[in-house]
Amino acid sequence: MATIIEDKITIAQPVLIQNTLGGPTVFSNPKSGEQVNWAGAGDPDGLDVQSVPISFLSDASFQRNLSNGTFSVYAAPDEILEAIDALISGPHAQRQAQSRRDQAQHSKDALAAIIVDPTTDDLVAHSCIGPGTRAGALCGTGVPIRRSESDTTAPLCAKHKHLARYCIPVEGDLDNSTGKAKITWQFVNIPKE
Ligand SMILES: [Zn+2]
Repeated sequence: MATIIEDKITIAQPVLIQNTLGGPTVFSNPKSGEQVNWAGAGDPDGLDVQSVPISFLSDASFQRNLSNGTFSVYAAPDEILEAIDALISGPHAQRQAQSRRDQAQHSKDALAAIIVDPTTDDLVAHSCIGPGTRAGALCGTGVPIRRSESDTTAPLCAKHKHLARYCIPVEGDLDNSTGKAKITWQFVNIPKE
């Protein structure tokens, strides 16, 4: 049984797995009931890297997450690294990862194919909601955003663009000119700069 083999492995070094998704991610092994929570990639406290129980590595759905790049190996003992490499670089795994990348590209292309009338899709000046130089103040740098993209693009200047994953769109009052709710952007948690 797999569990007996797992018990015999003594590991000095933990298996550290990094979450590559923008948001918090959870993986639980239904067989063992073990669960690990990751913060989104690039978490300022490093909580996007977590040690996982060795049982995860023999779980098919965890293996799929490794081969499609949702999780990446941050550090692991050599013999485990080799086993993971063999697992995720097999021709089948590579094909799966490629088809997933193709799918992602297709949906991106589909989005890009939404035709925007360039005459009305003007640039609107927004001000950056990134942290300002004084505590509690906003950055305020002018950010031009196309009208068609203002509901999907957080107003962040070049210096604060990397904080986009912390921003969420919030529906506000009805905009009479469009008949849709006005979107304002807010930080879900203000990162330490
Ligand atoms: Zn800014």
